[in-house]
Amino acid sequence: MTTVDIDRILAEVDRAGDEIVQYTIDLVRIPTVNPPGDEYEACAHFIGDDLAQRGFIVEYLAAEGRPEHTTRYPRVNVIGSRRGGPGRVVHLNGHVDVVPPGRGWSIDPFAGVVRDRKIYGRGVCDMKAGIAAAVFAAEAIVRAGVPLPGTIEISGTVDEESGGFAGVAYLAEAGRLARGRTDYVIIPEPLNVDRICIGHRGVYWFEVTARGRIAHGSMPFLGVSAIDGMTRLLEAVRTDLTPQLVSRRTAVPVVPPAARHATINVNGIEGGQPVDGIQTPCVADFCRAVFDRRFLMEEGFDATKAEIEQLVARARAVAPDVIFDLRDLMIVQPTRTPDDSPVISALDASIQRVLGRRPELIASPGTYDHKHVTRIAGVPHCVAYGPGELEIAHQPDEFCRVDDLVNATKVIALATLDLMNS
Ligand SMILES: [Zn+2]
Repeated sequence: MTTVDIDRILAEVDRAGDEIVQYTIDLVRIPTVNPPGDEYEACAHFIGDDLAQRGFIVEYLAAEGRPEHTTRYPRVNVIGSRRGGPGRVVHLNGHVDVVPPGRGWSIDPFAGVVRDRKIYGRGVCDMKAGIAAAVFAAEAIVRAGVPLPGTIEISGTVDEESGGFAGVAYLAEAGRLARGRTDYVIIPEPLNVDRICIGHRGVYWFEVTARGRIAHGSMPFLGVSAIDGMTRLLEAVRTDLTPQLVSRRTAVPVVPPAARHATINVNGIEGGQPVDGIQTPCVADFCRAVFDRRFLMEEGFDATKAEIEQLVARARAVAPDVIFDLRDLMIVQPTRTPDDSPVISALDASIQRVLGRRPELIASPGTYDHKHVTRIAGVPHCVAYGPGELEIAHQPDEFCRVDDLVNATKVIALATLDLMNS
């Protein structure tokens, strides 16, 4: 990669600024809300048609056999490939799904409004701007007239926000994303434009059900309240477990710093009679809660689960008439890119060139499709790097700065070229 090539590529990204913004807006206007998985097929075809026009070979992979792939909500993934020389295959992957807008917006979340050099909309930061950066990184190399030494692949995949099983996991299981076929993977998730994300903590989602005995609500002493039973468990989580988790710290550079510890969250709870509608006076005979425990590489899954089992056992001891059951919902092992991975050094050098400062290596507080790339596809050389600020993701009035989008596009373009050559 010569200095002339680099300068030409950077100039092409600058020239394409308005196109990159427009592409992002067009994506935001396709409301790919998950759940339930709206407009996935339309979005896959928007990306695929565009890549085909740019000279990519385009494939569509519907997640056949997955229960969430239905006629009403088809799970359609798209991959475009552009082959050059016999060099490495660099795969740029973005998820097309966005979380529901939620409340508190001051503008239409799907209008794609640009104001003060910020693009607003649900999913703009997480991560439609990232998909735009991937597309225009490849485009800038081509427009600069720099021959591709290897292959660039760009994929738009579904369901990352709900685990990615019909998305990146599906591509990996189908062998479309695989060791021996895919050398490097960059996922342009929003983690700030000067940070490279090398992995994430582990996830243990579990459900606890409490069963009591129904009785007349005017004589609660004749029944067994499942809600009271669940309260015992919640108290133990808050007073026994949480202080211990806060005291455990990982050596992995998770951001923000408060997430450098183990954490637990109660995602949802239901019990007794539905709160909306007509009720009758009854003691709650059933209560269920879903918990989200983020564990550290240093803790490991087995110890994490054993600790929860002990907590449930303690709730049983203080509420012996309640029947508690623990059920695993999702287990994600922690992941970390090898320190000497070429994908880290290529991005590091590109960030220094574009932004004039050294990037920070971080790990994500949440999980993302990285896990499927390493664990199912067996490709260790994967990181997340993209435009947008981590703290803005999933918030009302979500936005991405145009300058970040342009800079990330430059960084991805240079790193991709470098990696194809490596
Ligand atoms: Zn995301």
